[in-house]
Amino acid sequence: MDVAGRAGRLRGRLAEAGCEALLVSNRSNVRYLCGFSGSAGLLLVLAEELVVLTDGRYATQLEAELEAAGVRARTVVGDPVRQLEALKAALAGVDRLGLEAEAVSWARQRRLAEELAPVETVPTTGLVEALRRVKDPGELDRIARAAEIADQALQECLPLVGAGASEAEVALALDSAMRRLGAQRSSFETIVASGPNSAMPHARPTSRRIAEGDLVVVDFGAVVDGYCSDTTRTFVRSGVSAARRRMLEVVRHSQAAGVAALRAGRPASEVDGACRQVIEQAGWADAFVHGTGHGVGLDIHEAPAVASRSADMLEAGCVVTVEPGVYLPGEGGVRIEDTLVVTSDGSRALTRFPKELVVV
Ligand code: ZN
Ligand code: ZN
Repeated sequence: MDVAGRAGRLRGRLAEAGCEALLVSNRSNVRYLCGFSGSAGLLLVLAEELVVLTDGRYATQLEAELEAAGVRARTVVGDPVRQLEALKAALAGVDRLGLEAEAVSWARQRRLAEELAPVETVPTTGLVEALRRVKDPGELDRIARAAEIADQALQECLPLVGAGASEAEVALALDSAMRRLGAQRSSFETIVASGPNSAMPHARPTSRRIAEGDLVVVDFGAVVDGYCSDTTRTFVRSGVSAARRRMLEVVRHSQAAGVAALRAGRPASEVDGACRQVIEQAGWADAFVHGTGHGVGLDIHEAPAVASRSADMLEAGCVVTVEPGVYLPGEGGVRIEDTLVVTSDGSRALTRFPKELVVV
């Protein structure tokens, strides 16, 4: 990963955003720009230098992570008073300081505006997020590794689905397998939703035992070196009805149509349209109740958005999900999701678990 080059690309966008310096407080953005992954820290991006401010719990970690990332930055370690003094001193000569509007609370903005006066604080949105949309080869390697671990964990745990385990037991087994295979953690709370629960797109695993005839939605991901993967597969238990099999077939075709529409230079909304068309033709337009997908990286949900109203364009190196679904309350739900990297002539799937009908 080329971490050291990122701040320079950010500096090129500051003038247009109406500021000379940016105070980065979104944790994923701090990590992206300098490698520091602590849960408390600020990064000040000045024209000539980077300043990282954190407290004493992270002194050792900060130095180690800056070095590992190959980033030169001045560090300030201390309590909030010491950090504020250092921030004021570092801002000498700066008239307008950008804050990340999506990451700063109203109360904090008011406090900073007062404390840093006469420096003017200005709201900015999406400056670092825009850089994060296109992944470099090191980032792609990490997401691919996370996806491989998820594929392997699912392979290991699939027999449990057919053995009458509870949703919670399957979720725990998946989380545990991913950790054992080298993931730092799950990229979000694992979803295992069976029978009627599968009709809720974001159901939480319960003690319900997976039964014959059920649809079973499994949505999960791994994190490797900070980078996420995201996969959904829907399985059927033996004895499943023809109607439920048809739901699976329709969603499989919808997902394939979305994947086929992925290509650099195209609007992300076209991918959503391709998925939606197949589901509409099957008569389930109202049962596809969410957007088609999202970017994946340091955050499980990031730019670009793959949705009907998205204005985002796909670029080579974007990593996105394609995850159409059909949810029929009382009957069940189906979702199929892959994490893919967009290329100049299409896409490459990073999650590769088979999508053919699997009866367990
Ligand atoms: Zn997912
Ligand atoms: Zn997703």
